[in-house]
Amino acid sequence: MSSRVLIVEDELVTRHLLARLLETEGHRVSAVSNAAAAEASLLREKFDLILLDLMLGSDDGLTLLRRIRGKQSAPIIIISAKGESADVVTGLELGADDYVVKPFNVDVLIARLRVHLRRAAGRRTEPDEQIRAGRITIDPGLRDALVDDRAAGLTQKEFQLLQLLASRRGRAVPREEISDVLFDGEIRSEKILAVYIRRLREKIESDPENPELIHTVRGFGYRFGS
Ligand code: CA
Repeated sequence: MSSRVLIVEDELVTRHLLARLLETEGHRVSAVSNAAAAEASLLREKFDLILLDLMLGSDDGLTLLRRIRGKQSAPIIIISAKGESADVVTGLELGADDYVVKPFNVDVLIARLRVHLRRAAGRRTEPDEQIRAGRITIDPGLRDALVDDRAAGLTQKEFQLLQLLASRRGRAVPREEISDVLFDGEIRSEKILAVYIRRLREKIESDPENPELIHTVRGFGYRFGS
């Protein structure tokens, strides 16, 4: 499967390494070093995946992410250096789908990109049994939820999270299990999971502070429905 991938990374060596890796995987790669060039590329062509460095020299990756997120359906994966975990959390809150930490384990990086590209490609072909609960309809065909018939605009991870919880309606799902499904067993952080839950609630709950759809089960995990 050949995909279009945009790499936004100011460090020459990392940019070339990533580009070579992805080209070896058979993808068509555009690699740019700053925010303006990234935005120009995104205007010119459609990408299947975006790899975005957070520290872009004089540019800020988070600012770029904020500018492009609403306009992109492609998965966005943050590249961060060690010690930037606060920025990673902000990035996830802004709608990034995943993150990788420099220096990379190349095999892990490639495996992760494959998962995201496969999911993005499979969006239209997955079985599409809808789940309804109160005001919302979960639509696997759209990979989104409808709230009062209006698209909630869920990211891939948010949709995956909602689909997992809704498939076990009325039963609490352990945090560890959710993290394993969401992050392919690589991340088990309560804090990161809580970020996803909060974002999801903001998009589908009438009052995210007093959720009626996604309930916290203290010390255990989360439950969809009553
Ligand atoms: Ca950088």
